[in-house]
Amino acid sequence: MSKKVIVAGGGHGGIAAASLIARSGIDVTVYEKNSREAMGYDWTDIFAPDSLKDIGIAMPSEELYEYKTDMTFYSTDEKSPIYQDTPDDEKEIKMERRDIYNMLIENAEKYGVKFEFEQNILQPLTEGTRVVGIKTDKGEFFADLVIDACGCMSPIRMNLPKNFRVQKAPVKNEKFYIYRAFFNKVPETVAEDKYKVCMLPEGKSGIGWVASEDKYTDLLIGRFEPFDETEARRTAEYFRSKNPTLGSEILRGGDFVQIPVRQPLSVMVCDGYAAIGDSAFMTVPIIGSGIANSFRAAKILSETVIADVDGEYSGKTLWAYQYRFFKEYGAGLAPLAIVKLLLAKLTPEKLNYIFEKGILTSKEMTITAKSTGIWDFFHFSPDLPKRGIAIVKDKALLKEIIWVAKKMASVITVCAKIPKKYDRASVFAWAWKYDQLFR
Ligand SMILES: Cc1cc2nc3c(=O)[nH]c(=O)nc-3n(C[C@H](O)[C@H](O)[C@H](O)COP(=O)(O)OP(=O)(O)OC[C@H]3O[C@@H](n4cnc5c(N)ncnc54)[C@H](O)[C@@H]3O)c2cc1C
Repeated sequence: MSKKVIVAGGGHGGIAAASLIARSGIDVTVYEKNSREAMGYDWTDIFAPDSLKDIGIAMPSEELYEYKTDMTFYSTDEKSPIYQDTPDDEKEIKMERRDIYNMLIENAEKYGVKFEFEQNILQPLTEGTRVVGIKTDKGEFFADLVIDACGCMSPIRMNLPKNFRVQKAPVKNEKFYIYRAFFNKVPETVAEDKYKVCMLPEGKSGIGWVASEDKYTDLLIGRFEPFDETEARRTAEYFRSKNPTLGSEILRGGDFVQIPVRQPLSVMVCDGYAAIGDSAFMTVPIIGSGIANSFRAAKILSETVIADVDGEYSGKTLWAYQYRFFKEYGAGLAPLAIVKLLLAKLTPEKLNYIFEKGILTSKEMTITAKSTGIWDFFHFSPDLPKRGIAIVKDKALLKEIIWVAKKMASVITVCAKIPKKYDRASVFAWAWKYDQLFR
């Protein structure tokens, strides 16, 4: 009898995994809380187009995307800009999220994936050590495998029994609270920087971007602490005072969302369960991009599921997915979570110093959604000694950088030692060690 797979949550990773698995003849149903019409936020996404190859989708037609403009980064004092300089063959594309979803859903339906919209998932259903289904506001649904693609605050992951050892929720500094809206563009104004990213704006921990398009200006405010509409409006006013293109009429968006900015989940599989995308914290920890990684993970997960010809879908057979994900991407993403911890600790004065002295350069800031590892972030260049001297001159900064280097070395070592074969004791022991590094 054909095996049954439930994909909980219809995000990028969930739908991509559903299509690849259904293509092999397995019965797959996606459960999603939104209606089909309300799928996806009302804004654009940027991602590496080559990741589409991983999920067997061709480049979209040209009128559906444009290449992303390089960003200009500023520290709090906005005195020393750093310009991205992305090589042509690494340029990401920008697409309406709705168009990405249309492309993914159309592809999934072609392979027989069924969609159950307007199903609010409440919790997993478990028996012994196995996840056997999901409970939604409309009923209980059972399957041989539940793929958790419900995102950062997944009700499945967060309600798994403790002895499954899957970490439940991100902790402080592990997720970003985001407000994003497209405002009208003030007529006859020109932006000095088309895509301006401000780090620690107003000296507050977080970031903000102002991207000036022809017909609108895209404002994003990101913080490590939650904030409300009043604070979003006040902050928008601050950005307006510095960016003349930013109008005050909201044309699109105006929503609050959360993005994980942390290391990938230490245990992402157990009997009858595998987490993917934001549910497994697969975003690039510094920039929060997760689309390309969720596509890459979908490919690995589908290959693991299809290789399990007996349909056992146990922690043991699904472990190959986690092992490969870590080897190919996770081991590169996890050290970046340490860099993020440093960024979360930096004072505006330190950040201004880093920008002013050229300690961070265009090379480091050209980190893109295509970047999957620490070596994409650090670059050796002829001015390295000069940058080194600037660090050494500031004792407190030097201390922080040494802390980061030591931590990263430990993370790289532990990631390299991920057990190849699954047995609960060694997997849990490894996961404990890995988790400790980020505490
Ligand atoms: C403001 C914002 C901008 C972003 N911009 C980019 C970008 O430009 N580039 C990039 O690469 N990444 C970006 N990301 C991150 C990217 O969206 C995610 O990494 C990616 O979508 C991960 O896919 P996923 O499959 O984990 O699903 P998610 O996008 O996390 O989607 C989860 C799905 O599960 C559904 N769901 C959640 N809870 C329930 C429930 N209880 N019951 C039923 N369904 C549920 C949700 O409705 C949603 O459809 C952005 C994220 C946000 C929030």
